[in-house]
Amino acid sequence: MPRPISATISLSALTHNLAAVRRGLEAACTRDGRKRPNIWAVIKADAYGHGVRNAVPAFAQADGLAMLDFDEAVLCRDLGWAKPLLLLEGLFEPADVAVLDRYRLASTVHCREQIDILAASKVSRPLDVFVKLNSGMNRLGFAPGQYRDAFGRLQALHERGIVNIVGKMSHFARADDDPEATSRQLALFLEANRGLPGALSLCNSAATLTPTLWPALPADQDQWVRPGICLYGGSPFGGRSAQELGLLPAQTLAAKLISVADLPAGASVGYGYTFTAPAGMRIGVAACGYADGYPRHAGTGTPVTVDGVRTRLLGRVSMDMLMVDLTPVPQARVGSRVVLWGEGGPSVDEVARAAGTIGYELLCAIAPRVPKFAV
Ligand SMILES: *Cc1c(COP(=O)(O)O)cnc(C)c1O
Repeated sequence: MPRPISATISLSALTHNLAAVRRGLEAACTRDGRKRPNIWAVIKADAYGHGVRNAVPAFAQADGLAMLDFDEAVLCRDLGWAKPLLLLEGLFEPADVAVLDRYRLASTVHCREQIDILAASKVSRPLDVFVKLNSGMNRLGFAPGQYRDAFGRLQALHERGIVNIVGKMSHFARADDDPEATSRQLALFLEANRGLPGALSLCNSAATLTPTLWPALPADQDQWVRPGICLYGGSPFGGRSAQELGLLPAQTLAAKLISVADLPAGASVGYGYTFTAPAGMRIGVAACGYADGYPRHAGTGTPVTVDGVRTRLLGRVSMDMLMVDLTPVPQARVGSRVVLWGEGGPSVDEVARAAGTIGYELLCAIAPRVPKFAV
């Protein structure tokens, strides 16, 4: 028998979340008479741990898919995806140009070196590119002072039939928690792009789910939003749950109890004895540990459900097991279902908070040894 742990990927939740995002955009855009932006569903990191093979059919209604790995982009084409695909970090080396060309992949262009590679390339038809501005996050993108020059070089490559400038992009650093910082980035982006051709692409999940941002965006230009986490049922906001946002969890990590025991008062649990029973109590051992992708930093009190009843983790997480408090679930037995996060359990964001991280990290860190089932 396989070890009793698995991740269930709900295709209907993925589809639901995309539809919810689309409806929200439609509502916000109809309100101020603008066209709904196109949606790149971001499927990087194996679709945030949900599997590209699951995400591609579930996101059939997206206008395009975005990722960073060439292998994932090629897999999308092999799976029959005919709409646009965007590589968010663009090309890494000269050999990538042939892959972009062969599979009709759009590339971000964020640095001079990428333009140098393109300038020295031969292509069968112009490659679609999105030019990226560093509007303040200081991760990828041309500095504002170099942006127009880079754009001009790409326009020259357009004349030579090497590229087709489809869009202009940037990325927000604080769309989840600081509207003023976001406005400053947006103003800088619009100023740098004044008069330049191409669609705009700015919004990650947090910005996509912030309708108050839309009035500041030009209504007469095409846009592409780039939501990721919200499509998987995670919240991009610290203070608003995915449930409040109308999103459904798409990844459920569940295991079973492989042992139960009664502890006397004063008995301690797990490595380091970080939890000691204040009185007699029952505990269970679940077949899930940090080698499965469960965060080791989650300590005593992290929420978990056993047989549908909410309880808490006890002591330190081991490599292959963790211990749970069975006080509120006296009927629990070996074989009882334990939901670590997802449907019928705590949200991935709650578990992440208890471990000092974000839901993104947990979703995409699910270990290869955990079998994934799509339903
Ligand atoms: C990952 C990523 C996104 C999606 O971000 P979420 O916060 O998951 O919505 C959008 N754009 C770029 C460039 C990214 O790398």
